[in-house]
Amino acid sequence: MPRLFDTQSSEIVDIVPSTEGKFSMYVCGPTVYDEPHLGHGRFTLVYDILRRYLKYRGVEVRFVSNITDVDDKIITRAAELGISAGELAKRYEEVWWDLMERLGVEKPDETPHATDWIAQMLELVTEMVSTGVAYETTDGVYLEVAKVDGYGLLARQNLADLRSGARVEVDEQKKSPLDFALWKRTPETEWGWESKFGFGRPGWHTECVAMALGILGEGFDLHGGGMDLAFPHHENERAQAVAMGKNFARHWMHNGFVMVGDEKMAKSLGNFTTLKDLLDSTDPRAYRLLVARSHYRAPLEVTAEILQDAARSLERIDAFARRFADVVLERPEVAPSKEVIDGFNEAMDEDLNSPVGLAHVFEAITRANFALDRALNEEAVSNAKAALLLLGTLGIVVQDRLEVPQEVIALAEQRKVARSEKDFAAADKYRDEILQLGYVVEDSDLGFRFRKA
Ligand SMILES: [Zn+2]
Repeated sequence: MPRLFDTQSSEIVDIVPSTEGKFSMYVCGPTVYDEPHLGHGRFTLVYDILRRYLKYRGVEVRFVSNITDVDDKIITRAAELGISAGELAKRYEEVWWDLMERLGVEKPDETPHATDWIAQMLELVTEMVSTGVAYETTDGVYLEVAKVDGYGLLARQNLADLRSGARVEVDEQKKSPLDFALWKRTPETEWGWESKFGFGRPGWHTECVAMALGILGEGFDLHGGGMDLAFPHHENERAQAVAMGKNFARHWMHNGFVMVGDEKMAKSLGNFTTLKDLLDSTDPRAYRLLVARSHYRAPLEVTAEILQDAARSLERIDAFARRFADVVLERPEVAPSKEVIDGFNEAMDEDLNSPVGLAHVFEAITRANFALDRALNEEAVSNAKAALLLLGTLGIVVQDRLEVPQEVIALAEQRKVARSEKDFAAADKYRDEILQLGYVVEDSDLGFRFRKA
């Protein structure tokens, strides 16, 4: 198991799953009311890389990530557009999965929807009211955070400091500005559900507690999300579990923010405010490479130049993959380089250090290319195999075959015949014609292959 930075202890710790060889993780999914932004793309890629890495290390992962399909933001936006909230949520959930597919993010094992969990949420609210940790006001039910041991753990602040920094609203019936809604009463003309606490809808923080505990059970291994969720969302999820005397997540993981380049820069190559814009403007794999190239806890800067640089790195990776596509098949007896794999694993095991992991991959690519320039030897093949294996582990799909037009293939076939008949003048003529069409033909042990001119 890799060691990870645990937000609750503020240090890198050993991760010991509750069941050996298995790992359960819950990551807060999107509120489906608008176009996903770059931050959404980053967090899904970070946890996708963690999940893929754990699987590669032989761990059985159970990954749950929810869809928040009831929320004030959904209701407001739907009203603006003159459609129902349910319709809006459905529309943006489709957008979400489409973008996840383009990013190559594997779908979670389970994707619970908040609206399917209302009954379970109400059970939790009932329990918290009955034990006296929650109270009712005219507009809903609130958790009294002063009654929760260790409130402020994830915020890394104590209750008094948090309270002094909290915004006090007018007409406040809450006992403390930090107390938060478990259930919000709403007019019956709005979207909502009947309950013993009145018609209304659940608070966001209650949703994830009900689904995480309901699906993964108490003491699941990891709860993750973007750094902006640590407080108050995750703090408040945890507070509810603690208030009910239940074990919640054993570990907490949070990824850093995305910083988009200044407006001028963004405009020079399309506007990257939405994930769709970014994916439309470049090879979608470039964003995954960019995310993997930065440490997950560091801020991620995204500018047109940085994206172009990542796209160029991908070209280099693809050129390498094409060069070695046949070579690795020709040498099935050669194992991937243990040195490369050990270096990669060591980096990833220490708080998922994917930038260092990737550096090992790029070194292996350089070594493989350098070795093959001289001869097809074990050094070339073992480095290439390790690099290809590890790129796959990071979810970077290599394009190891060029889409070559039939016309070009036909010319290469004619050139091959000319060469076998030792008609080198004709062979050169075909080579030049192929070049005119934008391809370079190279001879290999298996016949010929192409690269872009
Ligand atoms: Zn959540």
